[in-house]
Amino acid sequence: MVNAPAVDADAYFEEDSADIAPKHGTTVQAGWGAAAALLTKKKDGDYPTDFKFTDQTQLVRFLQDEPFDVYASHWIEREGKKSFVCLQTPRIGEDCPLCDIAGDKPRNKFAFNVVVLSDEQGDEPTVQILTAPPTFARQLMAVHEDPRRGPLTKHYWAISRQGTGPQTQYTLDRVRATELAEEWDLSPEAVEASVQGLDLYDNSTTYVTKREELLQVARSLVS
Ligand SMILES: [Zn+2]
Repeated sequence: MVNAPAVDADAYFEEDSADIAPKHGTTVQAGWGAAAALLTKKKDGDYPTDFKFTDQTQLVRFLQDEPFDVYASHWIEREGKKSFVCLQTPRIGEDCPLCDIAGDKPRNKFAFNVVVLSDEQGDEPTVQILTAPPTFARQLMAVHEDPRRGPLTKHYWAISRQGTGPQTQYTLDRVRATELAEEWDLSPEAVEASVQGLDLYDNSTTYVTKREELLQVARSLVS
């Protein structure tokens, strides 16, 4: 026997909007209404989309001239979660069990807000997080600081990755607005209009594992 819904089901799946008012005084707060609120919430409820480097060239628009987060990260070969933010990252500034107990060396990561123009269909672009290793971050900084190629947000960038491990190489080619139309069949005006006012990620997005959990991981490595 199916119970009649307490409220109109359509209301559960209404359009995502930053200013939807919370519904008070109904049972929706706890049941499917609460779930639907999370499911339709784009920024806080969803996992962010990570930019995936490929050997195919992707066209990228950086949304800021600098990384929104810089942190160190451990990569631990184990079952389950392998990547952990190092607690010695300056903005966290704590002792890190993976450094101190396990003796693992973290690698620096540089996180940028980007839109992948070569992926986009329709007019609502998805902000992705491009996490650059030091080699690629150096390339990005070099073009950003080069008065003929920078700043980063002035042009578009064709990005690809070749090779693996220590042999990995990144290709970063500038694409001018004029080339957008000629080579990528995109209108620079439409692209620029679509990326205005997008919600950007900040360093609260970077998941920092609790110290006790890192202690357990570190101890499991040395036992
Ligand atoms: Zn560490």
